[in-house]
Amino acid sequence: MAKRTVIIEGDEQLRKKSRTVTVFDDKLAVLLDDMADTMYAKQGVGLAAPQISILKRVIVTDDGSGLKEFINPVIDSQSDYSVMTEGCLSVPKRWGDVSRPNKVEIEYDDRNGEHHKATFEGFEARIISHETDHLDGILFIDKLEPETEQ
Ligand code: ZN
Repeated sequence: MAKRTVIIEGDEQLRKKSRTVTVFDDKLAVLLDDMADTMYAKQGVGLAAPQISILKRVIVTDDGSGLKEFINPVIDSQSDYSVMTEGCLSVPKRWGDVSRPNKVEIEYDDRNGEHHKATFEGFEARIISHETDHLDGILFIDKLEPETEQ
């Protein structure tokens, strides 16, 4: 396990669309372990693979309830929106108000390639929304509520 370098806004890799994961091998396991190490080292609550220059649809989260791994996450439905101030490890020293769902129903694969469906609520739903955006090249600064950037 190892920490990887988190790239910063301005790096064009953050704006690319990540590829679907089709191979569930040891290399993917190493990526997931490294992403968790990197997220915890940076005291983040989530990390998407493109933030460490890997353009694959992989995210990890920990809202305080433990590490979760989502491969190829797809948000099937989202509801119960609220506005909250958020930031991003790839956009240092900037925060802003973003509207996100408090409830998401998602499908995803685990590191063994097994498919799952699950519902997440509250802060965890917000994190999943933020991290899944990264897989399509979207940053929170693209979604700021008017007049709230700090
Ligand atoms: Zn982010």
